[in-house]
Amino acid sequence: MLHHYLSVNTYCRRVFGCKVYKLALSAAASCPNRDGTVGVGGCTFCSAGGSGDFAAPAQLSIEEQIMQAKKILGKKGEGLKYIAYFQSYTGTHGNLKELESIYNRAIEQPDVVGISVATRPDCLGEEALDMIKRLAEKKPVWIELGLQTIHEKTAQLINRCYPLNAYEKAMEDLKSIGVHRITHVILGLPGESRAEMLETVRFAAEKTDGIKLQLLHVISGTKLAESYEKGEFDLLKPNDYYEIIADALSLIPEDVVIHRLTGDGAKRDLIAPLWSADKKRVLADLNRELRKRDIYPQKT
Ligand code: SF4
Repeated sequence: MLHHYLSVNTYCRRVFGCKVYKLALSAAASCPNRDGTVGVGGCTFCSAGGSGDFAAPAQLSIEEQIMQAKKILGKKGEGLKYIAYFQSYTGTHGNLKELESIYNRAIEQPDVVGISVATRPDCLGEEALDMIKRLAEKKPVWIELGLQTIHEKTAQLINRCYPLNAYEKAMEDLKSIGVHRITHVILGLPGESRAEMLETVRFAAEKTDGIKLQLLHVISGTKLAESYEKGEFDLLKPNDYYEIIADALSLIPEDVVIHRLTGDGAKRDLIAPLWSADKKRVLADLNRELRKRDIYPQKT
């Protein structure tokens, strides 16, 4: 059946009236799953930089980070618009006053049209929600939550350290303050069947405004890499991944924004699957599979 999904580029053109570039930035210094608040060692797949491998260094001021991120993008022309994307660690954990001040300084830049903050569902208490509400009064705010899976056995295996009902509560709380909610789902987690992955997609798609579908990447220095090197699990093959993405897109309502369809992470640290490093080829092959299934992006 014909299906038209809503890509993030089309969504941004509709909301902001132009193409918008994401600037990868750092604000938070850690996460509760590393500093002992809820766990230690972090999620097994997460890199030492808290999954913010493209983010500008946190030692720089936010204004310097923004300048550096624009340079990396190679987009310095007049009139371009940006989302300030706070990608590393947990963006609502730690000193909220300091974090709010950084977010405000980013929001105040005239060419920044909104901000996106990556965090965890169990780090959205009253104070954090109040902070987000204040930010959202200035410019659009996107909040990104790492759900990864709805299956408890996998959540334990990857050491996620929060229960599924924390995600459900966070989605309700964020809805009540009117921010754009993005859910991260990882496809290919150890021990998960295709049906289980699609159950996670279906569950998240009913609750979220946007979704990132990411192929599981094994990054050097992680616990996942140790397990992979011991041969404890298999990774998805390209065709399996393309078919799962096509199945997933068919399940996602056409008004849910698709923020990502591939893996993310620095190539230099990628141990496997190496086929995923050739992004151009992956996208070409994936699009071929999608066309075969009558799945197309919506026009602006
Ligand atoms: S994925 Fe997020 S919550 Fe998990 S260890 Fe990394 S920064 Fe912490």
